[in-house]
Amino acid sequence: MKSYIVGNWKMNFSVGESSVYLHKLLQKTRAFRDIEVVVAPSTIALQPLSLQIDRKKIRLAAQSANAHDFGAYTGEVSCTQLRGIVDYCIFGHSERRHLFHETTKDIRAAVSAAIRNQITPILCLGETATERTFGETYDVLRDQLLSGLSEVSSEDIHKVIIAYEPVWAISTTSEAHLAAPDDVSEVVQFLRQLLTDTYGKKIATSIPILYGGSVRPSNAGAYLTIPEVNGLLVGGASLIADQFIEIIETAKRVKS
Ligand code: PEP
Repeated sequence: MKSYIVGNWKMNFSVGESSVYLHKLLQKTRAFRDIEVVVAPSTIALQPLSLQIDRKKIRLAAQSANAHDFGAYTGEVSCTQLRGIVDYCIFGHSERRHLFHETTKDIRAAVSAAIRNQITPILCLGETATERTFGETYDVLRDQLLSGLSEVSSEDIHKVIIAYEPVWAISTTSEAHLAAPDDVSEVVQFLRQLLTDTYGKKIATSIPILYGGSVRPSNAGAYLTIPEVNGLLVGGASLIADQFIEIIETAKRVKS
């Protein structure tokens, strides 16, 4: 299976800055068959960047999208509108769940809207620090995974990507709050088993599971060498082109 290195730029960079960054990335990366490099800029930058991008090297993702195709949904952008501009869209990011109160119902409808519009959904899952403390991690992840995928048909289920992002490990500067690779490995094995029990082994082994949570050049290798991890979702470190490029290079080394 391919490895995915996804950079989530969140609400950073002007359109001009996004274009300069992409230019640098295109210059410094070469196409590598087993690695898919994806960047998720702000919605406003997606269309111009889609004209600049070389899809053999880098793909675009949206950071979120509405489940409806068109209509009276002020401020929203739909998968139908994003179709042809992006190849991927992130759904269920912890910031969308916790800051913008996106519900499970919103997320599962948007995941199936993405598939309907030929966009690969990257479904984020993750427990909060409190849920972890109370031993609820596996219950929370089971619920987020199964409900997030519940509107996807069995024929389409192989088109999704899962990203495990423990909320307590996102954007931390403290080494103590980084997820230990052994713990990530355990959780990812749990998710793989859950996919196997629900969809069968063949489909389960074809679904990429990414890890995200304060990934940096210094720890990327440790997460990428976890056997069940098929790539990384990178926030903060993806804002610095040189760091993101270093993470891509690490993925290439691990892969070869
Ligand atoms: C994220 O927000 O998806 C993320 C993984 O961020 P960071 O790498 O900064 O923890």
